[in-house]
Amino acid sequence: DPDTGLDPLEFSVTRNLAAKSTTDRDAILANPGFGQSFTDHMVDICWSVRGGWHRPRVSPYGPISLDPAAAVLHYGQEIFEGIKAYRHADGSVHTFRPDQNGRRLQRSARRLALPELPVPYFLQSLRELIAVDGAWVPSGDDQSLYLRPFMFAKEAFLGVRPAHKVAYYLIASPAGAYFKGGVQPVSIWLSEDYSRAGKGGTGAAKTGGNYAASLLPQSEAYENECDQVVFLDQDRNVEELGGMNVVFVYKDGTIVTPQSDSILEGITRDSLLQLARDRGHHIEGRNVSLDEWRQGVASGDIVEVFACGTAAVVTPIGVLKGRDFIDEQPSGTLALELREELTNIQYGRAEDKHGWLYRL
Ligand code: PMP
Repeated sequence: DPDTGLDPLEFSVTRNLAAKSTTDRDAILANPGFGQSFTDHMVDICWSVRGGWHRPRVSPYGPISLDPAAAVLHYGQEIFEGIKAYRHADGSVHTFRPDQNGRRLQRSARRLALPELPVPYFLQSLRELIAVDGAWVPSGDDQSLYLRPFMFAKEAFLGVRPAHKVAYYLIASPAGAYFKGGVQPVSIWLSEDYSRAGKGGTGAAKTGGNYAASLLPQSEAYENECDQVVFLDQDRNVEELGGMNVVFVYKDGTIVTPQSDSILEGITRDSLLQLARDRGHHIEGRNVSLDEWRQGVASGDIVEVFACGTAAVVTPIGVLKGRDFIDEQPSGTLALELREELTNIQYGRAEDKHGWLYRL
């Protein structure tokens, strides 16, 4: 591993003199919502072709100054990650499998022709931010501090080529329980007119353009009274939702999830499937056609369908709606059992058998 043996970065730390008071912070943490308030500090690290990774900083959270010609604003050369920090009963703060997010950020970087941030630097950025903003990790039920690492092309140059200057940032935002009155099944709109990704495209990378492309189909879902949208590939295989992976549970206990190089490899999905494997379930990653889904539900072969991702963890799929059909989905108990098992590990209420927790 070329990343090991790296010396830690030496971060400069500039404290935010206008940091929120404890009272103001507690008011936010009492009802944080999602993605609307931010902690007092942020991290950034510069990269250039000549200088590599340099000028690591912790500084007051605030606007970024960008040249209007910065490449990201024109060509979308940008990637990001999403990861949560959890407060345990003893007050300690942990993230869940952050090495996986660090590696996925590297895979996204490769696809978007951005530099790969060494995983030890990625992990250090998380520790540096929590060192100054640890008090922002809420302690209420199902609350967390959502960490948003991102990287973009900041070189002022309108030629279409990989930028020679790049910035990596980390910001953090307290997050409340995703489901207020307990986990609710979601309704899913089948997107037939729009795709999210194509063969050889950027579907497996966590890059802004994929999410921009999902906004119009997501509006179509809302117009059709659905919560989320599911995308198909060109062969009418199921891909994923706008921000969550899809998992099918079969009558014989087999668990099947779409596998292709145009799907984001979710860390939540990987972890849930490991927990299912530990219980003796057989797991298959393969193509799942829309026909297999609909026929499996109709015949009773498929007994449960759920979506999973960092934000909502696990949500059962209650209904699949297309232009000319509405398929009620079967409801089972496995999704919620796995959800409970996973969140118990994340919040330190159960033994971390796989060594997934990382103390910040
Ligand atoms: N698919 C997409 C498109 C996503 O944005 C996400 C959220 N990162 C996921 C799947 C689930 O990934 P994870 O479990 O790592 O959050």
